[in-house]
Amino acid sequence: MKLILLGPPGAGKGTQAKMLTEVFQIPQISTGDILRAAVKDGTAMGIKAKEYMDAGGLVPDEVVVGIVRDRLQADDCGNGFILDGFPRTVAQADALQLSLQKMKKELDRVISLDVDAEALVERLTGRRTCKECGRSYHVQFDPLSQEGVCDACGGALFQRDDDQEETIRKRLQVYADQTSPLIKYYRDSGLLIELDGMQPITLVQEKMLSLLQAS
Ligand code: ADP
Ligand code: ADP
Ligand code: ZN
Repeated sequence: MKLILLGPPGAGKGTQAKMLTEVFQIPQISTGDILRAAVKDGTAMGIKAKEYMDAGGLVPDEVVVGIVRDRLQADDCGNGFILDGFPRTVAQADALQLSLQKMKKELDRVISLDVDAEALVERLTGRRTCKECGRSYHVQFDPLSQEGVCDACGGALFQRDDDQEETIRKRLQVYADQTSPLIKYYRDSGLLIELDGMQPITLVQEKMLSLLQAS
């Protein structure tokens, strides 16, 4: 299963990707997680990327395209992968197409999660993220069983620097301007499944699985 999860910040891509990795035994490739790890490690790439991330903008295409191209070569992608947060521009989508072509691989599906802007702000302001595994929780919609400790791995939780209302609004605008054209892009290539992301997490999950298993 070679999948892309598409949708605005806060749509639930990461949450659903974690579920899909278990069901299909394929890795989640989150460019956001990879970039945050580089920031944490203080690599040259991380230092540069942090400026764009803190401002709510996109990291330059050539940086993320390089990350994904390398990551797709890894052995664990043999049975497929879930791209979460990539591509985010038409140029990234074109570059992905080229990389896959060279590897003689093809995407199976692109799932687009649709969520209202106000719900996105509510989700992102209440999001808490695990420092270790990147899983996200929500103070209200996906609470932890033990305050401050990740249920999946025991890691500590934190609030992302960019999950502040002002930066969130900027990121939503960047999505509308630069990423939303990908909905048409993948509809035109016949790969798109559109899914209502406004329902509770478990319902979105059930719907997603049934759509994937039917296709
Ligand atoms: P994305 O990866 O698309 O940015 P996340 O999966 O991190 O989004 O989800 C954003 C926030 O919204 C998290 O706090 C998560 O717990 C919460 N969330 C995810 N899906 C839903 C949903 N269907 N209903 C309510 N809250 C959700
Ligand atoms: P969310 O799903 O909540 O928007 P991500 O974790 O996917 O957050 O991304 C966080 C930030 O990392 C983005 O706002 C952007 O600065 C950067 N980023 C992640 N993926 C990409 C990408 N494919 N292209 C450019 N920048 C990216
Ligand atoms: Zn964790």
